[in-house]
Amino acid sequence: MKEAVSLLLAKVHYPVHSLGYGKRVGIWLQGCSVRCEGCLNRETWEFDEAARIPVQSLVERVEGWLAEADGVTVSGGEPFDQPEALGALLVLLRERTAGDLLVYSGRSAEYLRENHAGLLGLIDVLITDPYRPGSGQTLTLRGSDNQRVWLLSEEAKRRYPATVNGDAWEESERRMDLLVEGETVWMAGIPRPGDLEKLEKLLAERGMGVSFSLRGGGGARVEAGKERPLSP
Ligand code: SF4
Repeated sequence: MKEAVSLLLAKVHYPVHSLGYGKRVGIWLQGCSVRCEGCLNRETWEFDEAARIPVQSLVERVEGWLAEADGVTVSGGEPFDQPEALGALLVLLRERTAGDLLVYSGRSAEYLRENHAGLLGLIDVLITDPYRPGSGQTLTLRGSDNQRVWLLSEEAKRRYPATVNGDAWEESERRMDLLVEGETVWMAGIPRPGDLEKLEKLLAERGMGVSFSLRGGGGARVEAGKERPLSP
């Protein structure tokens, strides 16, 4: 890998349980040119140079988690908007984990095959297509039902059910991660319609002022920042 390769990073977190198999490292890249209508993650749209970090530094930051993580989920923003950096990141992750590498994209699989075929060989699970909530929001791992899951490796086929592309969520399977960092609480996962409003109401009832700042990637991996910590 070239030392100089860098990327725009929105966030990293471990553990994340809601965006793939098992206990995962979550990496959200900053910047998205897809611009889906209804995107819940508009804060990741800007290609903010202040968020630039060497890929090597990012890998060093997550390296300690990789030994026990079941895999890594890369989301955004739009990861394929930074193809060289995404490739460098995936190569370094692959060298350091036996877990599966899952990548979300708002682009179609057809577009990715035509323009980024080399990167697809580095990915175990690819989830494609723009966020279109009008298509329904019932299917596992996806923000909207038009999105497709591609099991690209043998490891992916071993871990994820072959029916994953048509699987509806069991309500018991649908989960969100609540990530507390100092004065901020983030949510990562795929909410049902109305979930964020319910959480906002719940926190308000506990006397906590909430200011949702929705971020993530692919339409429904959401993070919500609030003004005060969850513990009153
Ligand atoms: S849903 Fe994802 S791909 Fe679509 S605009 Fe939002 S961040 Fe970009």
